[in-house]
Amino acid sequence: MGHDTAASFGSPSGPGLVTALRALSRRVIAHKDELTDLDRAIGDGDHGGNMARGFTEVLGKLDGLEGKAPADVLKAVGTTLVMKVGGASGPLYGTLFMTLAKDPPEDTSDPAALAAALTTAIDAVKKRGKSEPGQKTLLDVLVPLRDALAEVGLRDPARLRAVADAAAEATVPMRATKGRASFLGERSIGHMDPGARSSALMVEALCDLLDGASEAPVEEKAE
Ligand code: ADP
Ligand code: MG
Repeated sequence: MGHDTAASFGSPSGPGLVTALRALSRRVIAHKDELTDLDRAIGDGDHGGNMARGFTEVLGKLDGLEGKAPADVLKAVGTTLVMKVGGASGPLYGTLFMTLAKDPPEDTSDPAALAAALTTAIDAVKKRGKSEPGQKTLLDVLVPLRDALAEVGLRDPARLRAVADAAAEATVPMRATKGRASFLGERSIGHMDPGARSSALMVEALCDLLDGASEAPVEEKAE
């Protein structure tokens, strides 16, 4: 099958996994204050700090992971997030990456393989969080992302970005029934979920990298 080689992570012409994770980490760190503000509205205001701390640690680890197998890279990221992010989101993002590490898609230009890997990881997050989509959490971005990946894979970054941003936006009118925000009940309505936003930020960073890859080989993008 002639998959688009540029639209993948780890192909000779696409950005490598470590490069992708670096971009994703930098994006989350750069939006620390935004995530804090969102969590201040419906939580305890620590999501920005939690995520920035964890992904700063991830950035530090990534240099030593260059050239390692995707499973090892993803596992290191997952365990670092569990140890360093804390809060509810640390174990959940950690579970996401550690589950992806168990059986990373061999061909990231194959939409079905990508979607299957993300489905398994989402299922692990659901189990860990005892949560489902519709409860105003990061799952409300990850599930629509998975659905879009199943359709277009990494070939259409603009579509993936639009889906993730719209999905985060769609958490605004939701009432939280999981996590700290659920303590607010009806008052959780009218604010974007911080975890949904941090997930969308990761997608945005990866999509920017894919956009660049389809034009010219990119090394690092300055934030
Ligand atoms: P804490 O809620 O412990 O302060 P964070 O502020 O870092 O932790 O993370 C909050 C985010 O975690 C929420 O915005 C939500 O997206 C996500 N979250 C919390 N609980 C759950 C859960 N049970 N399942 C899925 N996601 C959750
Ligand atoms: Mg919090």
